[in-house]
Amino acid sequence: MRMSKASEVLLARRKDLGRTATIEMGKPLAAAIAEVEKCALACRYYVDHAESFLADERVATNAKESFIRYEPLGVELAVMPWNFPFWQVFRFAAPALMAGNVGLLKHASNVPQCALAIEEVLRDAGFDADEFQSLLIGSDKVPLLLADERVKAATLTGSEPAGASVASAAAKRIKKSVLELGGSDPFIVMPSANVDKAVEIGVKARVLNNGQSCISAKRFIVHEAIAEEFERKFVDAMNALKIGDPLDESVDVGPLATPQLVDDLDAQVQKSIAAGATLLAGGKRIGERGNFYAPTVLANIPDDAPAAREETFGPVASLFRVASIEDAIERANATTFGLGASVWTNDRAEIERFVDEIESGQVFVNAMVASDPRMPFGGVKHSGYGRELGVHGIREFVNIKTVWIE
Ligand code: NAP
Repeated sequence: MRMSKASEVLLARRKDLGRTATIEMGKPLAAAIAEVEKCALACRYYVDHAESFLADERVATNAKESFIRYEPLGVELAVMPWNFPFWQVFRFAAPALMAGNVGLLKHASNVPQCALAIEEVLRDAGFDADEFQSLLIGSDKVPLLLADERVKAATLTGSEPAGASVASAAAKRIKKSVLELGGSDPFIVMPSANVDKAVEIGVKARVLNNGQSCISAKRFIVHEAIAEEFERKFVDAMNALKIGDPLDESVDVGPLATPQLVDDLDAQVQKSIAAGATLLAGGKRIGERGNFYAPTVLANIPDDAPAAREETFGPVASLFRVASIEDAIERANATTFGLGASVWTNDRAEIERFVDEIESGQVFVNAMVASDPRMPFGGVKHSGYGRELGVHGIREFVNIKTVWIE
């Protein structure tokens, strides 16, 4: 079976593929290799489950026979970002191909070698050019592709402007789209939490992928009863991170992917400080060469400052103090985004309230937000719509056909 083979090829090439990602976009090598392994897992997951997810479903009605059939839609265009250059693509490609669709990949312009390596993996696994292709094209060509009758749907992972542009081009031609956009995930710590664990995982959740993840913890919302302790330990842990060459396995945080990202991040930090935020750590570029930015912690952030309102795509943490669970929920929801949320508490009643009242696509309790092939992934509000992964992901781009036989 070809998807099974793709999983094997990914595992066999994980070191080379990981190195390609690290060199192209700067993520630490161990994380890049782990990303490739996760892609292999997703391929395997859909090998094991696609058949049952897409089997005919009998429904009891007053017909002699009635059932739901899932059929492929056809050619699906995937516009993908550079930050998880393998994972983003495989979490679309594995279910899409297993459902019988054709995948066209327009990858981010700064990861062409990853785009070609993915095509090679799938080709070597037995998928031919009629089934999957990487197109090395600019984003200006996307509307042309969506205007082509053969292309039936689009999925985009990336920024809000790119999502709005692709979704409207698809809508103009009455084509379905799925959007996985940005996030400004809250990381809430309540008094009953294990503070040391919350600090350890909070730092990890902020700087994973050099801070360039849609589901990074970006706004740390901490109850005032433990805020001082959390802040002190969090700042110490951010200051202790090792920054440097991402090919050096002892490094925690590598460079940002492009010089523009460093400029944008620094502008957000400096504007927030000018608006009244307190700088507790970092707040500057590091070194003469490369796109390195110091792990940064901001506190006392005014509501209209960029560090409170916008997505920060790099190692910058925004700290907020709250006096109650109501304040924590209000602060968590005070964003246009709704991707993930991580909440730290051992109080069952608080857990229920966070799960019910936080506006997001996923809530993780006493754990960092992460994607898992077995669970649906996606957002609400400006974080997008539609779901990837799990049973829901494979059913996004199929015709759900009702069959009624008298
Ligand atoms: P981006 O600039 O939006 O680029 C993403 C992809 O969209 C690239 O392939 C890009 O092509 C293309 N693109 C850009 N503008 C376009 C347009 N007007 N029409 C058609 N295609 C267009 O985003 P990024 O900077 O690479 O990625 C960072 C963003 O992605 C962040 O906001 C992050 O939170 C989000 N993200 C979301 C998820 C999720 O699952 N929700 C996962 C990862 C990342 P070019 O490279 O050629 O410009």
